[in-house]
Amino acid sequence: MTAPVSFQGIGASPGVAVGQAFVLDARKVRTPKVKLKPEEADTEVMRFKTAITLSDVQLEDLKVKLATGAENEHGLILEAHRMMLHDPMFLVEVTRLIKEETINAEWAVRRVCRRLRHQFDNLEDEYFRERKSDIEFVTDRIVRNLMGEIVDQELEVPVGAIVVAHDISPADAAMLVKTGKVGAFVTDLGGHTSHMAIVARARDVPAVLALGKAADAIRSGDTIAVDGRRGLVLVNPSEEQLALFRETMRRQLATEAIALKTAELPSITIDGVRVRLNGNIEFVDEIPSLLAHGAEGIGLYRTEFLFLDRPAPPTEEEHYEAYKAVLLAMGDRPVTIRTLDLGGDKIPGKKWEKEINPALGLRAIRYCLQHRDLFRAQLRALLRASVHGNLKVMFPMVSGVSELREARSELEACRSELSRQGVPMGRRFPVGIMVETPSAAWIADRLASEAEFFSIGTNDLIQYSLAIDRQNRDVAYLYRPLHLSILRMVEHIVKAAKAAGIPVSMCGEMAGDSSLTLVLLALGLDEFSMTSGQIAVVKRIIRSVSMSEAKELLAKAMQFSTAEEIERFVKHEMDQRFSNGDL
Ligand code: PEP
Ligand code: MG
Repeated sequence: MTAPVSFQGIGASPGVAVGQAFVLDARKVRTPKVKLKPEEADTEVMRFKTAITLSDVQLEDLKVKLATGAENEHGLILEAHRMMLHDPMFLVEVTRLIKEETINAEWAVRRVCRRLRHQFDNLEDEYFRERKSDIEFVTDRIVRNLMGEIVDQELEVPVGAIVVAHDISPADAAMLVKTGKVGAFVTDLGGHTSHMAIVARARDVPAVLALGKAADAIRSGDTIAVDGRRGLVLVNPSEEQLALFRETMRRQLATEAIALKTAELPSITIDGVRVRLNGNIEFVDEIPSLLAHGAEGIGLYRTEFLFLDRPAPPTEEEHYEAYKAVLLAMGDRPVTIRTLDLGGDKIPGKKWEKEINPALGLRAIRYCLQHRDLFRAQLRALLRASVHGNLKVMFPMVSGVSELREARSELEACRSELSRQGVPMGRRFPVGIMVETPSAAWIADRLASEAEFFSIGTNDLIQYSLAIDRQNRDVAYLYRPLHLSILRMVEHIVKAAKAAGIPVSMCGEMAGDSSLTLVLLALGLDEFSMTSGQIAVVKRIIRSVSMSEAKELLAKAMQFSTAEEIERFVKHEMDQRFSNGDL
């Protein structure tokens, strides 16, 4: 047993777990390097093609094996891996290396993989950098198949085991989660948007990733305590530490039990004001957890995640299948799908000019309006998918009325085209906008007369209003949701929406922060959209207060001038009403 030690990583899936470590074999797949005789090259290419076919069959088998019900969990991830296998550039390059440089297939595959990974290195966005490990997993599979090694071996994990590894492929993670025996995941690599994190969150398994060198320091059988919210991992903790962990675990389990029990209760204040609590998703796999926690709909589906997980843009058909899956999984509950929020530096597999300031560059609706084919494929798919459920569509980063008009007119053009082609479509769906630029906020009255709903994106609204880059740690201290300018802006947006009679939601991180629930309630939002784990606490607060007290609190808070004063006041008021464990 190793000495007590603690690690700080990224809390990628919340929850607390204590259990015995089960360390996965961190052995790297060995790549033999052999120079061929020129006459052997053709046979080597055949060997490579056979390994691709075998890998494809294995991934398809896994997809079928792991599919549970209509949601087809993990299906998208495995499908993305299959697409990487068939990427024409990859196939052509490996074949070229085998033939021109007369090297064996394993070596050629590894070299092309290295080049591909390198392209991802330069991307700023964490999500894309994470895709590097997907390339690695696919490459390992091909190399293993070339060498005749066993892949997708079912692992016998003890119940409640804390699975520790340098990295875990999404396929292994999915298989492990499916056994229902994993207590938590702990890995050296990965991040919040790695597939492993998504799989863990979708199944409510705590996970701490990006620990650096934890896997080397932990032995199978060590006692491990994992706090997936704080990103903390304790190896062989002391009795006191363990007692503390167990107490946190007990409290969280109790809260979770209440959450699941109160899932069906309406979010209504004691003086009868009803608001809707919706969920934010990036993948269809997140829906079962959202529904279990009582989400009444989806307030934000970030479709760029579907788009970005691959070397080439999805076809209209692939867009359609993704939206259909989400709409069917949600039944008649409303599903708000946001059109692509992509930026010029966020298109993998494409040569991109690095923008000096991407946050202020060609992103979201601006990008779509300049790449009409891409936009039309998505709009046509949305119109077609609308037959399958209760769809709402919104455009991101709108800064003026012209952009909204242009986007709507493209939507109508797609509608007419589909209608001419006799393609079935559902009834007309509401079309709204994200209000996330100060410019949109200040012309909210004009936008409200042409949009059917608003959704306030505070992540960007705060960034643009306070002039602080969301990604820049040096100015993170200025990122204050309770800055008077933000409160005034939200108040202004809500007023404009109410005057025009359209609903207004909030889907930025602020909406799920339970310490702000009273403030947001008083500001008059109709809907809040957040991740599944936040719904129960926010609902409990809403159900235990009156709108009149919330309004009184807000009025007093807005008398102060600095963010610090407002924060202090709101915290004091919340502490008076709710104990620490509630927030
Ligand atoms: C926001 O800006 O608040 C938002 C929800 O959009 P995203 O975080 O995807 O930019
Ligand atoms: Mg945004």
